[in-house]
Amino acid sequence: MLDDRTRKKLARLQELNLDVKWVSLSKCPACGYDSDPHNRNSDIRRLLHTRRAQARTLLSEASRNIKEHVKSNATLEQQYRFLLRIKDVNDEVLIWALRQYLAGKYWKQGKGYMYLAAIATSHGLDRENIAIYEKKFRGSPPPDRTDELNEV
Ligand SMILES: [Zn+2]
Repeated sequence: MLDDRTRKKLARLQELNLDVKWVSLSKCPACGYDSDPHNRNSDIRRLLHTRRAQARTLLSEASRNIKEHVKSNATLEQQYRFLLRIKDVNDEVLIWALRQYLAGKYWKQGKGYMYLAAIATSHGLDRENIAIYEKKFRGSPPPDRTDELNEV
């Protein structure tokens, strides 16, 4: 399960509005193909290829659960966009995020790729962006949006 500190980080990430925007794609960043939609299987393979075996194993476990329990996420396109989103997250952080997600069984609460991506990307945001956020709101502590986040 996520500890309080991580949950607060995720809440702040939402405040920063960093985990809600899917990029709209004209050219596919995974293969350079220009029109949409095309077969995402090869894009997904390409994005998984650079990952360590352990990360790939945990990713497929998470994807299996998400496909089964989070119906809105049960498409190749959603899986592709998720992998694209976490492209710059290193394996170590990704494995950490996947373990949090799997241990918490968040798919049972309807939390899919977006939530998993938010866990993975909030880790790297810890020092810089959260500091910027806190500076911006100095004097008034950020609202606790943990409950709200739980409903996402
Ligand atoms: Zn492509």
